Amino acid sequence: MSGGDPRVIAPGSTIGILGAGQLGRMTATAAAALGYRCHVYAPDEDMPAAHVSATATRARYDDLAALERFARAVDVVTFEFENVPFESVRLLAEHVPVRPGWEALRVSQDRVVEKDFVRGLGIGTADYRAVAGPAELARALDEFGGGGVLKSTRLGYDGKGQVRVGPGMDADEAWRRMGAEAGILEAFVDFDCEVSVIVARGPTGETAAYVPVLNRHRNHILDETVAPAPLPEATAVDAETIARRIAEALGLIGLLAVEMFVTRDGRVLVNEIAPRPHNSGHWTIDACVTSQFEQFVRAVCGLPLGSPARLCDAVMTNLIGDDVAGWHDLLRDPAAKLHLYGKAEVRAGRKMGHVTRLRLPRPQ
Ligand code: AMP
Repeated sequence: MSGGDPRVIAPGSTIGILGAGQLGRMTATAAAALGYRCHVYAPDEDMPAAHVSATATRARYDDLAALERFARAVDVVTFEFENVPFESVRLLAEHVPVRPGWEALRVSQDRVVEKDFVRGLGIGTADYRAVAGPAELARALDEFGGGGVLKSTRLGYDGKGQVRVGPGMDADEAWRRMGAEAGILEAFVDFDCEVSVIVARGPTGETAAYVPVLNRHRNHILDETVAPAPLPEATAVDAETIARRIAEALGLIGLLAVEMFVTRDGRVLVNEIAPRPHNSGHWTIDACVTSQFEQFVRAVCGLPLGSPARLCDAVMTNLIGDDVAGWHDLLRDPAAKLHLYGKAEVRAGRKMGHVTRLRLPRPQ
């Protein structure tokens, strides 16, 4: 079925996924539609992706014996979670293709490495300084006029390990609140809006990008994605070009999500990259020819990429914590597509599901 190309992982094969949350769950569902089996691997007790996968392994990301058994049981390994140690990735790669490879993970695991990489391509970011302690932070704050956003360099997401520093907060206090051993101080960007682009890249170098979308956050967590982002054409082209260039420079096989700020004077600055499906791409399940999850499977398995074209405009809203209790009312809107992740426990700040409201071209 592979047509003889050794880079193709044919339908019927087993895709190994590190991480077993909602991204893995939606990937496994898309993989099943193309005739694949999934084997998910995560340390967590609650594994939403396991409900829809052929096999699940519960073990730590640094359990080399468990990883070796996993690698022997699958035909390709990918990730829904990028913070996997190098030793683990190296071991997996001895047995099986690992897509994306270490370079994409290495760059996205560390905010300083990530920003250096992006700047090295001549692409803009907020100004930043790596800071190793409160004294360095105090110096960097002086350079930035006393304010900025302090972030932990590693393992930060949804605003965790992040402190807005301004007048009235000294470096010691900011450092303590961040709570990590290494940080990055970023200049505060007075942005007009936040957008993201998701691009897929296959082993032949073929790419396909979704339109830029607008992202609104609540309490540092993505609240709403509007597709497409209402941007001037030139800005939309800039955002898409940036995402493709980063994917190419990383030699990425899989999906890359690039989060960007659009400044009031129309510049596009990269905030963060993630080498996997992304929350801001969930609208593609219901509103595009090929969802980000199907595209991810196609890219990782070396299949031709599907069309990222939009069938209609859409707004995706996350269901965070108790929002999920409103599922019945949400279903009353016939143009609303509800997705629930099957998580065992509702917790504040936890992504429990999402709803995509389709802007159908005419009432059906
Ligand atoms: P991050 O974890 O880097 O994605 O940041 C979470 C959110 O904090 C972003 O989506 C922005 O809304 C805000 N933010 C992060 N960095 C900056 C910055 N340098 N300037 C202004 N806002 C920021």
